[in-house]
Amino acid sequence: MTDFATRLLTDLVTPERPADPRDSWTHAVQLSACAEFPSGRVAGFLSDGLQANETAIAIATTRHLPGILAACRDRGVDVSAAQERGTLVTLDADEALAGLLHAGRPDQSLFNSTIGRAVERLSADGRRVRAYGEMVDVLWSRGDTQAALDLEALWNELLDRVPLRLLCGYTIDAFEGDAGVEGFRRVCAQHQSVTPVGDGDSGATDVPGLLVAELQLRNTHVQAETARRHRAEDAERVAREQARESHERLERLHAVTSVLSGAVTLDDVGRLAGSEVMRAVGASSVVLAVPEAEQRLRLLAQDHSSPDTADYAHVSIDAQIPLAEAYRTGLPIWIDSSIELRTRYPDALPTITRSLGCAPIHIAGRRLGVLALGFFDERSFSALDQAFVQDLARQVGFALERGRLYEEARRSEARLREANQRKDEFLALLGHELRNPLAPIMTALQVMKLRGDTSSERERAMIERQVKHVSRLVDDLMDVSRITQGKLELKKAPVEFNAVLAQAIEWAGPLIEQRFHHLVVDMPREPLWINADAVRLAQAVGNLLTNAAKYTDRGGQITVCARREADSLLIVVRDTGVGIAPAMMSRIFERFVQVDRTMENAHGGLGLGLALVKSLIELHGGTVAVASEGRGHGSEFRICLPTLAASPSPVEAGRHHGRLDPSALRRVLIVDDNPDAADALADMLAALGHETEVAYDGVEALARARGRDFDVAILDLNLPVMDGYEVARRIREQSGSSSPRFIAVTGFGTQEDHARSREAGFVDHLVKPIDCERLLSLLESPRA
Ligand code: ADP
Repeated sequence: MTDFATRLLTDLVTPERPADPRDSWTHAVQLSACAEFPSGRVAGFLSDGLQANETAIAIATTRHLPGILAACRDRGVDVSAAQERGTLVTLDADEALAGLLHAGRPDQSLFNSTIGRAVERLSADGRRVRAYGEMVDVLWSRGDTQAALDLEALWNELLDRVPLRLLCGYTIDAFEGDAGVEGFRRVCAQHQSVTPVGDGDSGATDVPGLLVAELQLRNTHVQAETARRHRAEDAERVAREQARESHERLERLHAVTSVLSGAVTLDDVGRLAGSEVMRAVGASSVVLAVPEAEQRLRLLAQDHSSPDTADYAHVSIDAQIPLAEAYRTGLPIWIDSSIELRTRYPDALPTITRSLGCAPIHIAGRRLGVLALGFFDERSFSALDQAFVQDLARQVGFALERGRLYEEARRSEARLREANQRKDEFLALLGHELRNPLAPIMTALQVMKLRGDTSSERERAMIERQVKHVSRLVDDLMDVSRITQGKLELKKAPVEFNAVLAQAIEWAGPLIEQRFHHLVVDMPREPLWINADAVRLAQAVGNLLTNAAKYTDRGGQITVCARREADSLLIVVRDTGVGIAPAMMSRIFERFVQVDRTMENAHGGLGLGLALVKSLIELHGGTVAVASEGRGHGSEFRICLPTLAASPSPVEAGRHHGRLDPSALRRVLIVDDNPDAADALADMLAALGHETEVAYDGVEALARARGRDFDVAILDLNLPVMDGYEVARRIREQSGSSSPRFIAVTGFGTQEDHARSREAGFVDHLVKPIDCERLLSLLESPRA
């Protein structure tokens, strides 16, 4: 015998009452398992009594009672007759229990007046009674163990009074855990016998029955424990599986996100998203659509291996298909089977896709598109599946939003660039068109001057001043346009800065004088050689001096000083004028920026002077900066230029300053389709003593050249019908060795224009309005 069995035998409480001499027990326990009720055994107990002329009472739950009565019938008992005769009483255990409880505990008088009375009635004529009861089990199963034991005690009292054999039904599963074993023993202590679980005829009325019962109880516990463990293991397996799946999904999501981070444009997103999303979800097809104008969705990505999906580029937002509906409603759509697909979307094209999911894409409340995934098999989308697809859609959404912003920025940048370019082109054209009429005006003024006509001297001087002013503005405009288009090239040569400054002062001088400023020039004794385009550098310094004169009240002081500092030449132009507010200092070198644009404060500028200074100085490899203590405290502009390491040779230096000797008068042919320009020039040259003839087109020019030999032909290149190049070629042909020297006059002054005229044999290329001094010195230079 095992330890457990020995202990059990010693532990068990000896039955309090001696067994009935005819039977081995009067109060016993019948155990049952939840799953299997021993109706046969209970029925056997009752039937044996009835058939031995005893009476019986069965107090069972409605779950068990019908089975018990059926088993009685199987044993030959006429149940209905017995009930009618009153030898068999049946009661609903729950109802009977309710009738004897008071404040949740079995009440002795209630018990006696209900159950006690029924049992006494059954034994009225001295007959023995058999009772089967489950009320104690109902209480025990509810956890009212003390109430169950109290009820057992009431039954025991009844047993003392009435010839009764009582079988109590208990469910073994109600005795759970160690506390259950203890409780079971207390129940057994109230009984004389225990019949273990099972529906056979065990006849167990002794201790081994009790032992088996307790072993069964232990076994039940083991089974319950095993079942619990299995459930826990299953739950753990499921949790682990879910964790693995979540991890895998996270990794796939991460892969999609990192691939999409490389997408810049919307097309990039379309190209990358399709295949990546398809791989991540294991879908058979994927479509990514974004909204477009006209109530349409544009399909950015279409990746599918479905042979029946035709490539199409657009879908109407109103289309009765899942993709469009998900976009319209903003709600995801999940379709598990082809039947569902056909039923919900009867108008959709036939497809071999059996299940699909469509997730609308929202970012910050904006509808950016929709992501649709198709599968060739039927599948139901779990909550996890749906969340995963929606996460993917969100990632695609971020990429779409980035792409959209990028493309918008690129479009506005392109628009800006285009507008800027149009403006530059317009300014270049404007400068060109303004310059053309200035040429004849200037020439006419020269002629008036040469004629020595003094009657309109004041008006002539005034016109000359104004025309020069307009010319300067136009020049600035043209120069800035050339610089922005990269067309301005410097003619650099070694030059001594004194000569440059002299030129700058000559230009700015009239304004300085006009405004009664005091000019202080502070230069070192030794020459300052730099490698520069003398004209352009003088223009830059001249602009600073002009500004100093403009923005200083009459009678101010302007100081120019220059000195060598290490490898640089530092040029400072300082004034005692209005000064510059700190906020404007970083902007005044930009084109068209003026501190005060009001008409009262206009000084006849376009806001281009400083932009030109900056560009010209930078083209020379230098820098320009401004400093001012603020409004009313004067300004200081500093130019810093690289110097030449050594002074150039005197020969080299002289070449740039030498002058040519004057020479004899020339026979000059002037060809220009602008009669004013041609006549004015002819008048001016004639006034100087040159012989001139004028032609207004190519044909006339050829005719005049045929009649006589000219020393020089001044040709406008832009002639109608036959251009200046053609005229020059033909004159050269017809004149042979006595061909004149050709000088080009034109509104176009780019480097290419110069190169082209040089190639065509022109000795020089003058840009309108022409520099008269230069023209005269060209005429005077000896024939080659
Ligand atoms: P503009 O003289 O045609 O207006 P600039 O480009 O030469 O254009 O100068 C830009 C602006 O900088 C001027 O409008 C003026 O307000 C300011 N500025 C330039 N030089 C000076 C100076 N010496 N003193 C004070 N302000 C100046």
